[in-house]
Amino acid sequence: MSNQDLADLIRNVPDFPLPGIMFKDITTLIGNGPAFKKVIDLLVERYRDQNITAVAGIESRGFIFGAPIALELGVGLVPVRKPGKLPAETYQIEYSLEYGTNKLEIHRDAFEPGARVLVIDDLLATGGTIAAASKLIEQAGGTVVELAFVVELGFLNGREKLAPYSVHSLIQY
Ligand code: 5GP
Repeated sequence: MSNQDLADLIRNVPDFPLPGIMFKDITTLIGNGPAFKKVIDLLVERYRDQNITAVAGIESRGFIFGAPIALELGVGLVPVRKPGKLPAETYQIEYSLEYGTNKLEIHRDAFEPGARVLVIDDLLATGGTIAAASKLIEQAGGTVVELAFVVELGFLNGREKLAPYSVHSLIQY
């Protein structure tokens, strides 16, 4: 199964969540067993020998991909969540969107000292979400090794905004 086969399984949904937005729907990709496995295998292969000690997944689609990757790498999964969801003491960050702001949180004690963290989300658009998540991860004492995505909307230039972080994606539009 090629990366193009994987791309073909992503559904375009017009006008979601707002008029004028073409949403990339990954449910049609993860609903296909061999395709879901291929995505996880490709990412695990890339990170197996990079001394990753934790995977951070961004709520909520980042959990879907982050969990099996962490399991395969034999490391823990750290959830980066929307406010009010994590029960223990957290760090919080607020970041700007095109309209308004969003917040994310992480548990203060999420990482062991010296943690080498792989950060996972389903899709890179402007990069605002993952940039905020990366700041939180660093605040909690983690070192970001790479930011990994299944899908990258290259025309939004998120990758440039995220420099000097290293960015990896399987499928680019
Ligand atoms: P960014 O912060 O990079 O602009 O937006 C990325 C975040 O929004 C990710 O957490 C991602 O899940 C979500 N997102 C934005 N657009 C899409 C889309 O078209 N498809 C999916 N699956 N997620 C999107």
